[in-house]
Amino acid sequence: MSLYRDEGVVLRTQKLGEADRIVTILTRRSGRVRAAAKGVRKTKSRFGARLEPFTHVDLQLYERRSLDLITQAETLRPYGERLVFDYPRYTAGTAMLETAEKLTPIEKEPALRQFLLVIGGLRTLVEGGHDPRLVLDAYFLRSLAIAGYAPSLEECARCGERTGRAFAIAAGGMVCGSCRPPGSASPAEATVGLMIALLRGDWARADSSEPRHRLECSGLVAAYLQWHLEHGIRSLKHVEREKPSATIERGREAPSEWSGRPRDEAAESFHGMTLNTTIE
Ligand SMILES: [Zn+2]
Repeated sequence: MSLYRDEGVVLRTQKLGEADRIVTILTRRSGRVRAAAKGVRKTKSRFGARLEPFTHVDLQLYERRSLDLITQAETLRPYGERLVFDYPRYTAGTAMLETAEKLTPIEKEPALRQFLLVIGGLRTLVEGGHDPRLVLDAYFLRSLAIAGYAPSLEECARCGERTGRAFAIAAGGMVCGSCRPPGSASPAEATVGLMIALLRGDWARADSSEPRHRLECSGLVAAYLQWHLEHGIRSLKHVEREKPSATIERGREAPSEWSGRPRDEAAESFHGMTLNTTIE
């Protein structure tokens, strides 16, 4: 039984008794942690406001036999405040948090790369420089890759031939003409190119993609993700797929409060600079 510090992003909260909550946090060092927060449902609890979903918090916890107890919480970045007024970004963020929880099934098993991906993904959503659906699909593809389920996109998932022409979820991605199982999808070449760009962090290429290819990409990525998780991602159905954002400002500067850290691992992880070490 001891005190420990960690930082993390709040994934979810549940009621506990009259005034308390169980808070699920994806932490930097300890992986996914479920901890109790006392008195946070009282209206005047500032502590409670720091423990809302999406918030990046610095925490002090007291280790206990059952649920650990949160004894201090300081906000590092309140991503939720920025997302809550923008429905497409908010739903994309919600799907990210839900997926992060599903992809970290074992409590307190370190999941640093998943943590960095979530932080990087939330920040990219909040900065508003890319279509939220693209950000979400990039997050999905990369978190699947971290979990060991990267789809094969440049060669046949079954025989390794260069020319994949169909997308077969159960086979693990693109398959060639001879390996193609019945019922596989036949996506446009540009759609497969978009998936490759999102996986690699090639935003110039992803941002210049056409709406119909984004739509097709989203459908394939969602189906692939659903297949790999035992249960569906509930919040996915709220993500708007029909109307990709019409205007996307490119290269917009991030507000200064989002660029506090000297070495920005989350941004590196999300924008692809460390991705080559992740996906092979
Ligand atoms: Zn093949």
